[in-house]
Amino acid sequence: MQMTKPDAMAFDPAEIKKLFPIFSSHPQLRYLDNAATTQCPAAVIQAVDLHECQSRANISRGIYPLAEEATEAYHQARNMLAQYLGAQDASEIIFTSGTTGAINLLANAYAVDLKEGDEILLSLVEHHSNLLPWQILSRRTGVKLRFLPLTADGRIDMRSLHRLVTERCRLVAVTHASNVTGAVTELGPLIDAAHSVDAAVLLDGAQMAQHGPLDINALGVDFYALSGHKMFGPTGIGLLWGRRDLLEKLAPPFGGGGMVHRVTIDSFEPAELPARLEPGTPPIAQAVGLAAAAAWLMELDLKAVESHLYHLTGRLLDGLNNFPGIKLIGPSDLYQRLSLVSLDLAKVHPHDLSQIFADRGIAVRGGHHCAEPLMRFFGLMGTTRVSLALYNDETDIDALLLAIEEAQRILI
Ligand code: PLP
Repeated sequence: MQMTKPDAMAFDPAEIKKLFPIFSSHPQLRYLDNAATTQCPAAVIQAVDLHECQSRANISRGIYPLAEEATEAYHQARNMLAQYLGAQDASEIIFTSGTTGAINLLANAYAVDLKEGDEILLSLVEHHSNLLPWQILSRRTGVKLRFLPLTADGRIDMRSLHRLVTERCRLVAVTHASNVTGAVTELGPLIDAAHSVDAAVLLDGAQMAQHGPLDINALGVDFYALSGHKMFGPTGIGLLWGRRDLLEKLAPPFGGGGMVHRVTIDSFEPAELPARLEPGTPPIAQAVGLAAAAAWLMELDLKAVESHLYHLTGRLLDGLNNFPGIKLIGPSDLYQRLSLVSLDLAKVHPHDLSQIFADRGIAVRGGHHCAEPLMRFFGLMGTTRVSLALYNDETDIDALLLAIEEAQRILI
């Protein structure tokens, strides 16, 4: 998908960096592993801390003031996330442990309904979190998994869409943006094809969520999964958003306290949304922290952030293009990708390269990035992935490029 080229704007990452305590305790750190986990601003850490110090109690059941306060905080967190996603109805937000938790929740709920012969369409670019839950579902139900192929640069190839989206297709589940290539998925044709056969569309938004609020209804998808720790929030929290009519049709796949109206020894009547899909004590303080992260992101000048990230990604790509023996993975067009770049340095294992970076205080990720089928497609064991966030600056890019030069001298 082609993103629009933002106007160049002034942006000061040094000021942003000051808002992140991790950089005070690690002043030399060049953190370029933001696709794995972003860092937390003080505003998020303080929101969690304040909740734990002043409002900690279990939610929904207690009638004493502290329990009511905690329940209200959890409720308000859901409202904030609804705002971040542009959802009109906050009960469409189901808190989970993360993207993986959200997709497993959906897969387990679908398992109740699907039967042999039904089909689910995925793509070859998917993170294991959007592959294994469907493989497990397929083993349980006999549902057939089909896969959209990729273009040579690793984008989802839509040319075979109409052959692959059959009348038997019940769900199309693809990533919104790849954690390996950075490519942003072209959604229009995919959603039209899925909806033409009444199949629902799930987007794995793990990589997209940190780039600002969404307009979920305008996107036109039916389900959306994201992780808090990849959008400047706490670990252990994420969400599944779903269209209310579809969520209501899902039989709760997991049971426990808090998700029922009435229980007998051999049956139960589930509660309304969202509680019916959130059994047990939820991650309350983490939800408060995630809401603080969403609020923090919504306060930013996101156009300026986007422009800053494009500038850095362009500088990185230009620098890498100057090295002999480096193969860049993913779209060559800057505006078809997020601010992450995977590379293969000929004859060098990504772990060795990552170690050279680590020795110089540069944190990147080397390996298969939980996308083994994609690595097989590229004929690679793994890549070295550099993923940027708003607190990175030109010196981070230049230090990385210098380290590659040194790595070439040492390792080749
Ligand atoms: N999907 C994508 C595209 C990812 O990049 C990741 C994590 O790297 C996940 C899913 C899984 O996210 P989590 O481990 O937070 O559940």
